[in-house]
Amino acid sequence: MKEDLQVYDNVLQLIGNTPLIHLNKITNGFKGNFFAKVEAFNPGHSTKDRIALYIIEEAERKGILKPGDTIIETTSGNTGFSIAMVSIIKGYECILAVSSKSSKDKIDMLKTMGAKVYVCPANVPADDPRSYYQVARRLHQEIKGSVYINQYFNELNMDAHFNSTGPEIWKQTEGKITHLVACSGTGGTISGTARFLKEKNPDIKIIGIDAFGSVLKKYHETREFDEEEIYPYRIEGLGKNLIPTATDFDMIDKFIKVTDEDAAHTGRELARTEGLFVGYTSGAAMQGVKQLQAEGEFDKNSEVVIVFPDHGSRYMSKIYSDDWMNEQGFFDTQHESTSQPIEV
Ligand code: PMP
Repeated sequence: MKEDLQVYDNVLQLIGNTPLIHLNKITNGFKGNFFAKVEAFNPGHSTKDRIALYIIEEAERKGILKPGDTIIETTSGNTGFSIAMVSIIKGYECILAVSSKSSKDKIDMLKTMGAKVYVCPANVPADDPRSYYQVARRLHQEIKGSVYINQYFNELNMDAHFNSTGPEIWKQTEGKITHLVACSGTGGTISGTARFLKEKNPDIKIIGIDAFGSVLKKYHETREFDEEEIYPYRIEGLGKNLIPTATDFDMIDKFIKVTDEDAAHTGRELARTEGLFVGYTSGAAMQGVKQLQAEGEFDKNSEVVIVFPDHGSRYMSKIYSDDWMNEQGFFDTQHESTSQPIEV
């Protein structure tokens, strides 16, 4: 059992220092040692707590942000939750511009955390004044002293991981890490962590997980933006239809792509085999590791760290719902649904 009985002043003191957990069963027959960096142990249940706290505290250090000021972002996902949580403790107003595609659950969650939520039409171009990008930009211009987090184009996103996730992994593996596997969305996690690790040991291999339907892998290989790569996919939080400046592509050795279906099944398998109830992109990262193992990427000396970005509770109506899995056509003879509850 964990022995840390420290008492904390507030919830923000619990951000970071997430555990590294050995994967014992899902890696059966794999070469090497595999460890999950489980970011669901952050108080906001995701890796985005780190960037929310870091970017806001940087603005405080620079004197840009004073108590009562406003923080703005365009997200209904993990980053929105983390910014709202940090804002409550530090006494800021939090404004989130979200797409009308966002589920009611997500909007309710953000409202509960004290955020003011602007729901913007989903199907308008990014330069339309009603789009969430433009609404956020306009509010940022109008509200004096406001800070726009802009996670896809903010280099502080990377710095947050350079200063926390990277050093933690180095210390937790006692410098033995040989591979880092992480999803790439904004790219902050993978490139910031990689930058720290490569400074310590340039031989550490950095592997990014991308989705089919996203441009990142192709861009990494060709440095060209190929619109043909883009089509809708279901995994939320990884891959992108634009090139984020918060990604340092030079830090990444290679990308691999995973399918929506495989990532969903591997997420469910993590719960069944390791007792880890983690999000859709954690399933994607683990699926990537399976593919790398099949390609012969690892040997017996490999020490592989896989970042699991968030908690499974945010996906109850997605990959952890048998109905949703069925609707996507993800159940087949190879993959069965979970056992049905027994009515007494
Ligand atoms: N997984 C989830 C669930 C996320 O919300 C994100 C952030 N978009 C990522 C993975 C990717 O992390 P990053 O943005 O740091 O690349």
